[in-house]
Amino acid sequence: MNDEQILNLAYGLRGVLPDLLADSDQRDDLRAAIAAAERGELSPSDLFRQLAQHPEARRWLQDQTVDANRTLSFSSAKAPFIPLAGGGSAIAAQEYVCPEPGCTHPSWFRQRIGQTPPECQIHHKRLILKA
Ligand SMILES: [Zn+2]
Repeated sequence: MNDEQILNLAYGLRGVLPDLLADSDQRDDLRAAIAAAERGELSPSDLFRQLAQHPEARRWLQDQTVDANRTLSFSSAKAPFIPLAGGGSAIAAQEYVCPEPGCTHPSWFRQRIGQTPPECQIHHKRLILKA
């Protein structure tokens, strides 16, 4: 994972923090760490280490990393379905986009029921299912 990928993950994580961490002090800690990395005061690898200290955040990061790999093979193979690890069932990837027209924030793909879409980092609005 390169620095840019770590930062993109961190921005995505920031959007789902209220769902991940019940403790507002922990959320503030992580937000501060992400903001420091954004300003270049914290290296992405140090940021990743801090984020991964929280079990909930670590699990989310691992999920995204797996999803990123799946999305990659999904787009290159042009397959309509993505096989899920450890099961015979498959669901179509659902594409989520920013509700603001013309927004350039990249799409996010939900591949498991129960995954919460992140917020657009430009408009701070929850991504919605693409029509
Ligand atoms: Zn947006």
